[in-house]
Amino acid sequence: MQNTLKYDVVIVGAGNAALCAALAAKDQGAKVLIIEKAPQSHQGGNCPYTGGGFRFVHDGLNDLLTLMTVNNNKYSNLNMSPYTNNEFKNHMLEVTKGNTDKNLMETIVAESRPTINWMTSKGVKWELPSSRISSSINAPSTIPNSVGLSAYESGPGLIKMLTKSVNQNAITILYETEMTDLVQNKQKEIHAIVCKDSNGIHKINTKAVVLACGGFEANPEMREKHLGKGWENAKVRGSKFNTGDGHKLAIQLGAQPTGQWSGCHATPIDINAPATGDQGITERMPRRSYPLGITVNIHSERFIDEGEGFAEQTFVKMGSQILSQDKSIAFQIFDSKSFNLLEPRYNNSKPTISQNLNELAIKLKIPASKFIKTMTEFNKSASNRNYSPKKLDGISTNDLKIPKSNWGIKIDTPPFYAYCVTGGITYTYGGPKIDTKARVLDQNNEPIIGLYAAGEIVGGILFHNSLRGAGLMHGSVFGKIAGTNAAILSK
Ligand SMILES: Cc1cc2nc3c(=O)[nH]c(=O)nc-3n(C[C@H](O)[C@H](O)[C@H](O)COP(=O)(O)OP(=O)(O)OC[C@H]3O[C@@H](n4cnc5c(N)ncnc54)[C@H](O)[C@@H]3O)c2cc1C
Repeated sequence: MQNTLKYDVVIVGAGNAALCAALAAKDQGAKVLIIEKAPQSHQGGNCPYTGGGFRFVHDGLNDLLTLMTVNNNKYSNLNMSPYTNNEFKNHMLEVTKGNTDKNLMETIVAESRPTINWMTSKGVKWELPSSRISSSINAPSTIPNSVGLSAYESGPGLIKMLTKSVNQNAITILYETEMTDLVQNKQKEIHAIVCKDSNGIHKINTKAVVLACGGFEANPEMREKHLGKGWENAKVRGSKFNTGDGHKLAIQLGAQPTGQWSGCHATPIDINAPATGDQGITERMPRRSYPLGITVNIHSERFIDEGEGFAEQTFVKMGSQILSQDKSIAFQIFDSKSFNLLEPRYNNSKPTISQNLNELAIKLKIPASKFIKTMTEFNKSASNRNYSPKKLDGISTNDLKIPKSNWGIKIDTPPFYAYCVTGGITYTYGGPKIDTKARVLDQNNEPIIGLYAAGEIVGGILFHNSLRGAGLMHGSVFGKIAGTNAAILSK
C-alpha cells in the first residue's frame, strides 16, 4: 500500500453534497481532497439525472429574482407567493408521515435560504423551474412556490457550476478513485482513508472524512437485503456507482443505522429501460399513466388500486408493488378511450396491441382465461362515464376486492393496448445517523470523531415518498455544514 498523501479533509464523492462540502471546507482554509469512484464523464452521481430543483424558504417571486440574472420584465406575468418556514416543515412532516428527524429538519429549513445564497456566491446560477413556467409564461399566472429555483441547465448544470468553483479554488478531484476503507487511531479518531485506483491501493492521511457518496440503490445485494425480495431486479434510474460503500464502512466503524432502510423512492418504468441510469434515455422511461387503465401481473391478476390518487402521489407505491410481483413485471392495460390521454413519454416504447382481450393475453403470454375473468369483473363494476384525468373524479368501482377508487371506467373499447413495466429505483432512505453538525453518530449517539456525512447517504431525513427539491437542498445544507465542521476539527 502506498502512503504518500496528507490532507486536512477528504471528501468522498463528487456530487452536489460533496462539492458543497469541499467548498465549505476550503472557506475555512483547509487543504481538501475529493475522491470520486466514477470517471470524470460520469461525475455527479444522481445529480445529473435531476431537474436541479431546490426547495427553500423564500419571500416570493421578487425575492427569487434577486438571485437570478434575468430581466425582471421577463416574468412580469407571473406570481409566486412566499414559501415560509412553516410550509416547508409541514410539507416535510406530511410526506414523511412525521418520521423525519425533527432536529435535522429544523436545520434544513433554517439553513435552506442561507445555503442558497452561499451557493450563489460560489457561482451557481439559477432559473425558475421550467416545468412550472412553460405553460404559464404567456398568461398571467400564479406558479407553485415550493421549489423556488432550479440550477441553471438543471442537474448537469449544477454539477458543472460547482465543479468549476471547486477547480477555481484549487481543490483536487481524483476520479476513478474509490474509498475502500476508513482507518481510526487508538483514540477511535479518523486517521486515514484507504482508496483504490488503477495504480493500486493508497492510504491518505487525514483527520476528517466527509461521506457524500450517495445511497445504496445501485447495489442489488443491499437492495434485496434491506428492501426485500424482488428489489434485486429493479432498474436503477440514476448512477451505477452509488452502491452503499459509505453505509457499509460507516456501520463497520460503529455508526448508528437510522431511517427507513426498508423504503426507497421508486417508479413504474418501461421493461426495456437501461439497467442503470443513462442520461437522455432513462428519463423517458417512467410509465405513470396507470390511473387511466388497470395493471395486472403475469398471473393476469390486479394487485393494487390503480386509482387511489394522482400518479404523482402513488407512483412510489406502484413501483414497489410491481417489483414484489412474480418476475417483478406487470402489464399496464388501456383501451382506445384512454390511449390518447397517456403521457407523451409512452411514445418511447411500443405497446402490444390487439382488437380483443383473448389475443392480447396470448401475445403477452399471460393466462388468457384468467385475464378475461379479471377484465370482465372489472368492467362489470366500472362506470360508463368518460375520463377526467386532471381531477380526482371519485368514480370508483363497486364490490371489487381490490377497488379502483378514481377513474374506475370500463376498459371495453378496442383496440386494447398493453405496456410491460417493472420498478425503477430512484434512491434509498436509510443510512447512518448524523447530528445537526453533520457528525456521524455511534450507537450511543456520540460522534465518531472525524467522520461526517451529507446528502443521500444520511438516514432519517426522507421516508415513504419524495419531496420534490428536498434531496438536493438537504445535501447542500449538510454538505456545507459537514465541510465547515470537518475543516474546523482538522486544524
Ligand atoms: C432520476 C432522478 C431524479 C431525481 N430528482 C430529484 C429532484 O427533482 N429533486 C431532488 O431534490 N432530488 C432528486 N433526486 C435525488 C437526488 O439526485 C439526490 O438527492 C442527490 O443527487 C444526492 O446527492 P448526493 O451528493 O448525496 O449524492 P450523488 O449526487 O449521488 O453523489 C454520490 C457520489 O459518490 C460517488 N461514490 C459512491 N461510492 C463511492 C466510493 N466508494 N468512493 C468514492 N466515490 C464514491 C458516486 O460516484 C457519486 O458521484 C433524483 C434522483 C434521480 C435518480
